[in-house]
Amino acid sequence: MADETVDYAGPIVTRANALAQGLNRYFDGRLCGKGHRSQRNTARGTCALCGELRVDAYNLRHNLGRYKPMCQTPGCNQAATRDEKTLCFSCYSFRHRETLRAKTAFENQFYSAKSRGIPLLFSFAEWVSWWENALGADWFEKRGCTKGKFCMARLGDKGAYEPSNVICILHTDNVIDAASNDTIAYGTRLPQTVLNEEIARNIYLSMSTNSQLSELYGVCRATIRAVRSRRNWRRATAGLEQKTLLEVSLPLTAPQKD
Ligand SMILES: [Zn+2]
Ligand SMILES: [Zn+2]
Repeated sequence: MADETVDYAGPIVTRANALAQGLNRYFDGRLCGKGHRSQRNTARGTCALCGELRVDAYNLRHNLGRYKPMCQTPGCNQAATRDEKTLCFSCYSFRHRETLRAKTAFENQFYSAKSRGIPLLFSFAEWVSWWENALGADWFEKRGCTKGKFCMARLGDKGAYEPSNVICILHTDNVIDAASNDTIAYGTRLPQTVLNEEIARNIYLSMSTNSQLSELYGVCRATIRAVRSRRNWRRATAGLEQKTLLEVSLPLTAPQKD
């Protein structure tokens, strides 16, 4: 960089004249020690270009000025500070949030598949690129389990969630497929099930307390509550009439004291 020169073609002024006229810079016809044909700073008589080159070299060493890394997001003109100095703080946190949302969605699918005994053989990165290929850049908004949204469906509802075995279809079509393939997972089809339909019906109709039932069947009270409130085992308890304590004949008189 030191051999850069500026061929100054302005008028020749002595330093004394420049001082007298109050000029910041002047050129008296002398080249600087490095051979620059450049103006000099009036205050110190030093080469202005040498000074600029020194500042440039300093900035280069310290990532400052025009050597400052800038955010790579189109339209963003903030200094890059995060992610190997390619993103500014706000773009980094925005992307970070997006990634977290996607990661949560990935984990949700992973655990919901696991609870149905189906392995999900995607890494997070593979999973994201699969969605991007299928639905484009705004894939996250297009996927979901409501009408008009897309989901990852296994071919014939068989096997694992793996790149060769899944297609991207509308959620509503997937539900129709699951119904026609009779692969909707419920009751004893779920691998982690400890109850069965008969026990579920007994629990639903029983007048015992949650704790008593929990001990009787060796499950926790939350499981009992889920059956009784028909959150779980809805198919097994469909059509059954649950009696309340009031409907069961209770002694209406207070116990007699002896
Ligand atoms: Zn110079
Ligand atoms: Zn930015």
